Amino acid sequence: MMRQYELVERVKAYNPAADEALLNRAYIYAMRAHGTQRRASGDPFFAHPLEVAAILTDLRLDDATIVAAVLHDTVEDTAATLDEINRLFTPEIGKLVDGLTKIKRLDLVSRQAAQGENFRKLLLAIAADVRVLLVKLADRLHNMRTLQHMPAEKRARIAQETLDIYAPLAGRMGMQELREELEELSFQILKPEAFATISKRLADLSAKSERLVESIEHDLTQKLAAAGIRATVTGRQKRAYSIWSKMERKSVAFEQLSDIFGFRVVVDSVDTCYRTLGVVHTTWPMVPGRYKDYISTPKQNDYRSIHTTVIGPKSQRVELQIRTAAMEDIAEYGIAAHALYKDGSPHLSTESGAYQWLRRTIELLAEGDSPEEFLEHTKLELFQDQVFCFTPKGRLIALPRGATPIDFAYAVHTGVGNTAVGAKINGHIAPLLTELQNGDEVEIARADGQTPPAAWESLVVTGKARAAIRRATRSAVRRQYAGLGRQILDRAFERAGKNFSDEKLRGALPRLARLSGEDVFAAVGRGEMFSGDVVKAVYPDYKDERRGAPPAQGGPRPHVNGAGRLSLDKDQTVRLTWPGKGGGAKGGGAKDPEDGGIPIRGLDRDLPVRFAPDGGAVPGDRIVGILTPGEGVTIYPIQSPALAAFDNEPDLWLDVRWDVDGGPHQRFPARLALQSINEPGSFAQIAQVIADHDGNIDNISMKRRTQDFTDVVIDLAVWDLKHLNAIVSELRAKQVVSRVDRVNG
Ligand code: MN
Repeated sequence: MMRQYELVERVKAYNPAADEALLNRAYIYAMRAHGTQRRASGDPFFAHPLEVAAILTDLRLDDATIVAAVLHDTVEDTAATLDEINRLFTPEIGKLVDGLTKIKRLDLVSRQAAQGENFRKLLLAIAADVRVLLVKLADRLHNMRTLQHMPAEKRARIAQETLDIYAPLAGRMGMQELREELEELSFQILKPEAFATISKRLADLSAKSERLVESIEHDLTQKLAAAGIRATVTGRQKRAYSIWSKMERKSVAFEQLSDIFGFRVVVDSVDTCYRTLGVVHTTWPMVPGRYKDYISTPKQNDYRSIHTTVIGPKSQRVELQIRTAAMEDIAEYGIAAHALYKDGSPHLSTESGAYQWLRRTIELLAEGDSPEEFLEHTKLELFQDQVFCFTPKGRLIALPRGATPIDFAYAVHTGVGNTAVGAKINGHIAPLLTELQNGDEVEIARADGQTPPAAWESLVVTGKARAAIRRATRSAVRRQYAGLGRQILDRAFERAGKNFSDEKLRGALPRLARLSGEDVFAAVGRGEMFSGDVVKAVYPDYKDERRGAPPAQGGPRPHVNGAGRLSLDKDQTVRLTWPGKGGGAKGGGAKDPEDGGIPIRGLDRDLPVRFAPDGGAVPGDRIVGILTPGEGVTIYPIQSPALAAFDNEPDLWLDVRWDVDGGPHQRFPARLALQSINEPGSFAQIAQVIADHDGNIDNISMKRRTQDFTDVVIDLAVWDLKHLNAIVSELRAKQVVSRVDRVNG
């Protein structure tokens, strides 16, 4: 803990005229007031106000500010009163402490509905004197530095508040060092993994490129010296948070960030700044669009500097800031830099741009009625890289620039994001991809059971939304596979003539080495597990007759239409009848076998009939029968290339036609060649289309898989050509499908 004399020495070091007695009085008063109070870390509480005061001595602030820092927690946390402080110190100090006490009573982020109002109160509290803000920022910095002792939940809230309010406020006041440290500490708490990853990569990089920074520093200094310019060149690595926010904002990978190193060139005069720029630009090619002259047009917070990026000595992009030492002071300390004792006046300069901004803001505040309106005018200007929007109930949602209603929905709640189907912005229906503007009131329309389209993932700007979409898409795909798997199993059990229920399946889970029925369905749907194995796991005695048979070559399955009998009809046609009923037919199922005939003219014998093995034929196709001695009649659609083999044997050709006038009552085999684009869930989507159209998938076989595409052959059972064509067109409409063609062997 800082000793009494140390505090005095620190202040005297930059302000020899400091009131020593006042500082000593404050030290003792605060020490007594806090007494035996302890911080969460176990340290004496009094160490905290002293550390806050120490931060402010680094900014070389006046005695009143330092004393206010030492006293800042006394009124709120101890028996001390404002009256007493006014009496023992000065009314000026009393006012500062009063402002700090008021801010302390604000709970900026936790009570979300009141954020706008709280921010207004915060600014009102600092309105009286900007030094209140400086003490508050130092207070927050010390709290952030020691935040690890707080409970996790409180930690996250404080870090979020720091990132949302205090860090931008420090930046707006021109205190970049302070802003960066606040951001870095918040980032570390809010996104520990991202922080660790980026920090590690930065460390690796700096280990590798230590020489690079040095050599660029050296080259720059040399080139400038040759032109007669004396300059101090320093290179530095950017902070993890600034790297991360750039990655977020621009959706780029770490590798794609070119400006991880920044170089600062400090020279003696404004004139030299421009000469330096001349040397730099004539030596190395500049990167277009990166040149900014904040010397001729300073930023609102008085920041002045020339920015440019060149392709530097090592063919590396080098970001440069060229400025004078005085500009450097303002760049680092901002409004606090004005606290220097100009004309012996111990007050902050009212000419400072940041100070004027603050005054303007506060004037607006006095005029504005609603907190929202106020925010629109001020906070918005303050946080230039963010947009602030409201829920219909007035809750404030802060988002990065470029955010959409989808980001908004996820920021409100993951559940809201996942079920979002539309948005109203300021009462008007707007696309979910509209870029939100400051002050927008956003209402999200929701539909239960909705899953976010995977494409959203690349359209949102917030990490929270992206992660949630990825998660939701994954589980939706899994659900689709599980649905498919359930269908497959239902049929497999039906075929086996066995009962199937979730309960029975549960009993077999250990044998299947799966944790839940859903796991089994998904595994079957994905093809990782065979339906027959599941049947066997549930009914260990069950013998699968198809076991050992050669795997289906994609030909029609027995339950669809394996073989029929031809019989002579009275009007010289041959009727084709199918064994059993309509197989897997859902819609037309049971039927009188007599209804399933295909009249074929010119035959007078009973013959077995089957469909051509590859692709089959469906009602609506023009068909021919080919007489195959010893086997019967094989039905081909007229477009089948296999028919070419029979060109020279006209005797074998039979004219046949469909007899399905009574509507569909059974399914017929058809084969599709499909090319899909490889992306998660593409198969589930394809299966879904087929299922939605009441098509049965009999077999899927993968023909070829490249990095981007997968060629598959799908054997379907459909009612007729119209049905098949409907499925084909719907598949063609899917983005994940690049080609679909009917195949006939
Ligand atoms: Mn404090």
